[in-house]
Amino acid sequence: MMRTLSKTKLLAYRQCPKRLWLEIHRPELRQDSSTTQASFNAGHEVGRVARRLYDPAGKGQLIDVMAEGFDAALARSRELLGSSRPIFEAGFAAGGAQAFADVMLPAKRGGKRAWRMIEVKSSTSLKDYYRDDAAIQAFVARNAGVPLASVALAHIDSKWVYPGSEDYQGLLKENDLTEEAFGRESEVVEWIANAHAIARKRAEPKMGTGSHCSKPYECGFLAHCQSREPQSDYPAAWLPRIQSRKLKALIDEEGVADLRQVPDAVLNDRQLRVKHSTLTGKAYFDAEQAAAELAAHKLPAYFLDFETILFAVPVWKGTRPYQQIPFQFSLHMLSRSGKLSHVSLLDLSGNDPAKALAEALIAALGERGPVFVYNEKFEKARINELAERFPRMRRALLAINERIVDLMKIAEAHYYHPSQQGSWSIKKVLPAAVPDPRLRYDSLAGVQDGGMAMSAYIQATSPAASRSDKERIEKELLEYCWLDTYGMVRLWQFFSGRNDLAI
Ligand code: SF4
Repeated sequence: MMRTLSKTKLLAYRQCPKRLWLEIHRPELRQDSSTTQASFNAGHEVGRVARRLYDPAGKGQLIDVMAEGFDAALARSRELLGSSRPIFEAGFAAGGAQAFADVMLPAKRGGKRAWRMIEVKSSTSLKDYYRDDAAIQAFVARNAGVPLASVALAHIDSKWVYPGSEDYQGLLKENDLTEEAFGRESEVVEWIANAHAIARKRAEPKMGTGSHCSKPYECGFLAHCQSREPQSDYPAAWLPRIQSRKLKALIDEEGVADLRQVPDAVLNDRQLRVKHSTLTGKAYFDAEQAAAELAAHKLPAYFLDFETILFAVPVWKGTRPYQQIPFQFSLHMLSRSGKLSHVSLLDLSGNDPAKALAEALIAALGERGPVFVYNEKFEKARINELAERFPRMRRALLAINERIVDLMKIAEAHYYHPSQQGSWSIKKVLPAAVPDPRLRYDSLAGVQDGGMAMSAYIQATSPAASRSDKERIEKELLEYCWLDTYGMVRLWQFFSGRNDLAI
């Protein structure tokens, strides 16, 4: 019997034929990243709100293919298509493919019953590959005999502000893709035929890894594919910020994977430093220049880090979709005499933490002294957002931003160790520059990065969390955020050459 390929599989084929083959024949090799998992979760949240927005009267029917089984779901979809109620997750199969439509709304075309089909995405723009998605969806539905009046794609409007009281009108922005989707039938027929040919192959297709492995989706088979490729000891992929056209062409088009084959002439200063440091195995450190830059910022100094949470569908009034809202900060303070102290705030109540956090931050930071952060874009943007939300604190918050000094910029300009592998994240720089076992992120018992901190927040604020779970998570989050700012203090000491201070 001929297999039918789901829309997801056809889109996997569009990304990479080998990915389709692996999805079918070796699905156990897939390792979804926490980003992929987070985007699945966001998709579910947005789907739930879309059902309320498109069916305010609550008359629609939801088809649950997991609970009902594939054949029963298709049969119930067919039956419901004879009614005039909204249908969610209606399934169709035709022409060797199958697809489930997020939203089907009854409409009229030429006086006859037809359907308005809407795909709902949790992203904040109309991405090109959604056009393929809509074309497949329209092809399968129409070939299954469903009269379509229109095809649209709805995505999140990132500028929309949640007014509260469960009012989500305006969260989604719709784009009409009818003409385009209807006009691509022959392309879809070709994709389906080619995808079936790949699916029938006995052996894994040959395909090297490259930029297609993360576009448009992060491919969960990357570890598997890389394990089958010879790995260079000096990967060209470690070069930072590959922007020049020449260098891009060399790596992406000519397939140069080894730093030894990259001529110095196509590299900028920082890339050259990475190349030489990698090939010689020696660290680069311009201690004099780093210390001179930091000497301009006198003690007392502050070392600040936020942990944030974001929701595709906002839960707190006055916030936007995907806005990163701080729920925790850690702050180390180094006095004029070199005495170190620490304060922190962590709100796991599940209520909007922003106002209390802004107040505590202003109180703790005083009015003078540099505020060191690692990667200033992040902290500055959060502080600007707090200033926008709370006009009464605006001046005080913006004044904090004026005092921010980015330690990452000092690291990028003056330090590189081969173990950084092309990255200047604090998790790479800190163990290289200050090899103290107390500063190791991988020795933390729980939360070890920002993504894990977000998951921990969700877990701790869930109504299902037990008291002991909450206490454990609280301890893990406090330890993690403390390490971020204490690590910054030690990096500051390393870069400024202040070995006279016992910190
Ligand atoms: S990792 Fe890259 S090459 Fe391997 S299946 Fe995925 S997209 Fe294809």
